[in-house]
Amino acid sequence: MNIHEYQAKELFAEYGVATPKGFPAKIPAEFDVALANFPEGVVVVKSQIHAGGRGKGTFTNGYQGGVKVAKTKADARAAAEAMLGNTLVTKQTGPAGRKVQTVYFDTASAIKKEYYLAILLDRATAQPVIVASTEGGMSIEEVAANTPEKIVKVRVDPALGLQDYQKRQLAFALGFKGDLLKQFGKLIAGLYNLFWEKDCSMVEINPLATTNDDHLIALDAKVGFDDNALFRHPEIVALRDLNEEDPKEVEASKFGLNYIALDGSIACLVNGAGLAMSTMDIIKHFGGNPANFLDVGGGASKEAVSAAFKIILSDKNVKGILVNIFGGIMDCDVIAQGIVAAVRETGLQLPLVVRLEGNNAANGKKTLDAAAADLPSLVSGDSMADAAQKIVKLAA
Ligand code: ADP
Ligand code: MG
Repeated sequence: MNIHEYQAKELFAEYGVATPKGFPAKIPAEFDVALANFPEGVVVVKSQIHAGGRGKGTFTNGYQGGVKVAKTKADARAAAEAMLGNTLVTKQTGPAGRKVQTVYFDTASAIKKEYYLAILLDRATAQPVIVASTEGGMSIEEVAANTPEKIVKVRVDPALGLQDYQKRQLAFALGFKGDLLKQFGKLIAGLYNLFWEKDCSMVEINPLATTNDDHLIALDAKVGFDDNALFRHPEIVALRDLNEEDPKEVEASKFGLNYIALDGSIACLVNGAGLAMSTMDIIKHFGGNPANFLDVGGGASKEAVSAAFKIILSDKNVKGILVNIFGGIMDCDVIAQGIVAAVRETGLQLPLVVRLEGNNAANGKKTLDAAAADLPSLVSGDSMADAAQKIVKLAA
């Protein structure tokens, strides 16, 4: 789960990570209320979407920049009006962009230099890794590609926690001395505690900035959480913004379905994440493109399968469906009956290929073949390859 910059900055403040003071607004009537908190002068206006690259983004109405340093409050108000309700396209949103539903008025900092700082999970060593660079404000992927020597990584043993020598190692790599060294020590300690205590999958500050009066401050904030740990953090779940998520994925999560929308035309309904991955691979192998990843789980109920069908069908790009179920815990005949019921209920017109294997598969196939007599869209597949080839052909 991801949250907005303004929410991430509230968490930063709780953990003693210095950030500018800012105020969000969700409707134009809140602009003046938010702006009343600032003295006359420079105010930064920031579009709140769950994607980066906002500063260099463009709105579909032609307005340039999802982050504006406005010289006066009146300019800030005009920038907010141009942003709110409009669609911002950045390198990270894809061409469709994201509608801005919250703007954030932030205190402007006089920037001396911008840095990069993040904490991620290093899966290879199963440890948190702190990534820092003197090249902040730009895409870290570019820095990694062009000047990898400018990126320093420090891995933290989770049993020991972040050590003082590691804080110094990072601070020296970034060139912080004297009071900035002290400020950095406090900031990185707070950031690590946040990462650890809230079960984050990443925290990123880009840019971390030094100011002309020698303060160290997080000007941007990106925080992501491990979904599997959210049950421990109701206060984090409360920050979820469903507007930022694909409605199909939101619906799927209500039924405990593991669904990720993709942009192909062949929908798949599969049990087990590994089988779902290989189903997508084999669709590709035979020249098709998967419309989604969907794992209905090992012991999916009839209701979950029927909900999965409806979610798949709400995707307008779908031209065919491949059901690939291995009956380990599940009885293939019960699945087959559920599929037939769902096809009748939804009046499905699109081609549907079903491949069942495992527990009671022979009877499941009989149920499908019997129903296919009056449901011409329903086809059964014998093997994964056979089923994949059939659906690619039928959906073409
Ligand atoms: P994004 O990464 O989505 O482009 P940022 O929050 O990093 O958005 O903002 C882009 C740039 O705008 C920053 O690199 C920084 O130079 C400037 N900026 C952002 N917030 C402030 C602020 N509070 N004061 C001064 N400059 C800012
Ligand atoms: Mg940024």
